[in-house]
Amino acid sequence: MMPVMNQKNMMKQKNDFPVVMPVYARAPIAFTHGKGAYLFDDTGRRYLDFVAGVAVNALGHCHPRLVQALSDQASQLWHVSNLFSAPAQEAFAQRLIDNSFADTAFFTNSGVEAWECGVKTIRRYFDTIGQPDRYRIITFHGGFHGRTLTAISAAPQEKLIGGFAPLVDGFDYIPWGDLDAVRAAITPQTAALHIEPVQGEGGVRPASTAFLKGLRSIADEHGLLLYFDEIQCGMGRSGTLFAYEQAGVLPDVMCLAKGIGGGFPLGACLATAQAAAGMIAGSHGSTYGGNALAMAVGQAVLDEMLQPAFLKNVRRVAAILTAGLQQLVADYPALFVEVRGQGLLLGLRCADGVVNGDIIVALRHHGLLAAPAGENVVRLLPPLIIDQPEIDLALSILRQVVIERVAS
Ligand code: PLP
Repeated sequence: MMPVMNQKNMMKQKNDFPVVMPVYARAPIAFTHGKGAYLFDDTGRRYLDFVAGVAVNALGHCHPRLVQALSDQASQLWHVSNLFSAPAQEAFAQRLIDNSFADTAFFTNSGVEAWECGVKTIRRYFDTIGQPDRYRIITFHGGFHGRTLTAISAAPQEKLIGGFAPLVDGFDYIPWGDLDAVRAAITPQTAALHIEPVQGEGGVRPASTAFLKGLRSIADEHGLLLYFDEIQCGMGRSGTLFAYEQAGVLPDVMCLAKGIGGGFPLGACLATAQAAAGMIAGSHGSTYGGNALAMAVGQAVLDEMLQPAFLKNVRRVAAILTAGLQQLVADYPALFVEVRGQGLLLGLRCADGVVNGDIIVALRHHGLLAAPAGENVVRLLPPLIIDQPEIDLALSILRQVVIERVAS
């Protein structure tokens, strides 16, 4: 008889390796619950949450409409796979299409899956039109598209790629904002230009309208597809449903995630019918993508965001918060040199000698959560439902931290 291999007779070596893979530098707070723009830790302390799950909790924590939608759906149907008809996906896709440039959508469980669907859509398009040699995508310094091997290959900063070689071929990574560099990088193998209209992780950098318009015209001139990553800047965060609306530049392909599910894992890759020509049955798929729970929550998020006052309000509060931050920069130029961003994707760039991480820790001690971003930026990503009291509190905590630093 074969020996039974089980926990008792396998004699596992004891070690101190963390039970959760230690890939995150986590702040030492454990949250137990949240309400609106606030989180509460296991000591009962309240924090104003200007991280919002890294731009995910667009409607704040436990928004009643989302709680209702999720619990109603949870008692009806969770998941059936993509082997069967998906009326809920069709209904949600139709709403995204009605409110965007797109003709079609593919649903995923995360940002990077939505992003990679975009890359595959682009490659299949050129294959379908008989130009399979055109597979290369031009990307920009400071971009961030997720953590799969393909996504780090598209944004190959050392901190992302170290130790993961060999990378996936097919990306040309060039300076941000430089249309001449774009023209120079185009070869007969180029398929697409790819950009975050507002870079998030890279330092909260909005692309100028001139740059985005330039990319569109270069793409048209060379028969390239234009692919936008609106995973962080999309779904109302920029002040319009999609950031591209503000530049008046339409992409051919776009990926979404984060705010689209308000905290439920959901992403989407949107495309025009032309760009999606190669995405036929069997070409792509996902077990969970677009399941019933995700669709119910996604619909509820859109119900809120498409209320006539919602985005107007985002723009109103964003203008007030931005003005307050600009005043802070004007008052303390030795600490902060610039306010960056669009809508409620905002950043305070720290002066030389000031470390963004130190400011973030100090803010947290005073009850305000903020996130780091590249180029020494303190990133502020409040839920889109904040109003004057949250802005006043955030600005007063920022001022307190700054005053303490100046005094020390
Ligand atoms: N693209 C952008 C612009 C992002 O900000 C992120 C995540 O921060 C991603 C892609 C990857 O999303 P996810 O972490 O859900 O895979």
